[in-house]
Amino acid sequence: MSTENNKIMVIGGGIAGLTAAWELSRLGASVELVEKTCFLGGHAIGFCCKATDECVQCGACSVEDMLKKVVGEPGITVHLATEVDKIGKNGIFSVKLKKSSPTVNMPVDGVIKGYSKNNDPLYVVVDKDKAAQIPEGAVDLSELGTTGELEVDAVILASGFQPFNAEIKKTYGYNQFKNVITGMDLERIKRQYGDVIRPSDKKQPETIAFILCVGSRDERLGNLWCSQVCCPYALRMANDIKFKNEEADISVFYMDIQNFGKNFPDFYEKCQSSMNFIRTIPVDIFPVEDDKLKMRYFNEEDGQSVENVFDLVVLAVGITPDPDNKNLAKLLEIGLNVDGFLGGIDPLNRTRTANEGVFIAGTVEGPKSIAGSMAQAGQAAAEVMKYLEVNK
Ligand SMILES: Cc1cc2nc3c(=O)[nH]c(=O)nc-3n(C[C@H](O)[C@H](O)[C@H](O)COP(=O)(O)OP(=O)(O)OC[C@H]3O[C@@H](n4cnc5c(N)ncnc54)[C@H](O)[C@@H]3O)c2cc1C
Ligand code: SF4
Ligand code: SF4
Repeated sequence: MSTENNKIMVIGGGIAGLTAAWELSRLGASVELVEKTCFLGGHAIGFCCKATDECVQCGACSVEDMLKKVVGEPGITVHLATEVDKIGKNGIFSVKLKKSSPTVNMPVDGVIKGYSKNNDPLYVVVDKDKAAQIPEGAVDLSELGTTGELEVDAVILASGFQPFNAEIKKTYGYNQFKNVITGMDLERIKRQYGDVIRPSDKKQPETIAFILCVGSRDERLGNLWCSQVCCPYALRMANDIKFKNEEADISVFYMDIQNFGKNFPDFYEKCQSSMNFIRTIPVDIFPVEDDKLKMRYFNEEDGQSVENVFDLVVLAVGITPDPDNKNLAKLLEIGLNVDGFLGGIDPLNRTRTANEGVFIAGTVEGPKSIAGSMAQAGQAAAEVMKYLEVNK
């Protein structure tokens, strides 16, 4: 089986899109990879390594590894700062590309840095031909973007997700109190400072609360799904903090803990022996002296109101559908499910869509981890092959 002489468009250059592009190129297809921002790797390219004295299998380094493979692969053409304007189908797909708005998700300093396990070397990817260690500001981003037309035999949509906007949970004071941060912020802080610090004074926090399920499994928000990734990322972060500072006092506020893999029971047991697990949903958070935070919650056993003070509160935000999914569903003539993720039509093969020849992979289809997104991208590439065998 071979997809030789076939051209496939992959929309989205996160880990799902990168993996799909790579798998297709391995099968001999040429790939047009369309990414609307100025960098590849999606959300996960910025994640840090949470290894202690051992790897905790967070998956972050596989994103950088895949990115390096893709930018070095001649069969994959990358269109950064580009979006699909129109698409028509008459056996093959006729695609019109347009430059995306240069402000969409633009990194502040104009370039994104992927970090290797040891933060060394910085791996900067702005442009396929220039992928290397580019000094910041050395590339004119306004030059990026492809316009024009393409013909492709099949499409894989891998346009990803948006992290839950924690401002919506007003009682937690995100963006009001300096030391209430999200999981995404914690990734950035750890990357930038090499350690976990409090935003207010850059000091190491001693008492830290993690609140799980922020924006997920929340009836009031209508977000009923489990985001799958926030238990694991929060516990890995907490474990890393504890490894570096044994004195750190960590409390994890949770409803349920999602089992995430075969080594999980041991890992969870280790976390339980070194952290406080409190089964409740905190009610609200107030600032107190020294930018500390007072959290109020109800004790599950006796229903009593309890107040605790923390140096830092981390909201473990989950995965929500990209608001643009509605437009993408219309553009590609595929279904949107009740939660706002883009729907597969076959529960046994979630890469298939209502539009034959259009396949789907990664978190655009629903919450999943880096490993889960990669697995589904591999499946989507295999489905493209099957489709081409029948239809070409
Ligand atoms: C706080 C947080 C921490 C996490 N930590 C972990 C972890 O430790 N381990 C783990 O396994 N998972 C983790 N995850 C989950 C992980 O982020 C996802 O599994 C992964 O990023 C999914 O990749 P993706 O390619 O589906 O989507 P994304 O990473 O969202 O990539 C999608 C790409 O598509 C592009 N795009 C969007 N729309 C268009 C369009 N119309 N045209 C062209 N391009 C478009 C986007 O710009 C982006 O580059 C975490 C998630 C969160 C929120
Ligand atoms: S980035 Fe994650 S998967 Fe990679 S070495 Fe570090 S802990 Fe392990
Ligand atoms: S993964 Fe954990 S924190 Fe995230 S929604 Fe599911 S149960 Fe809640």
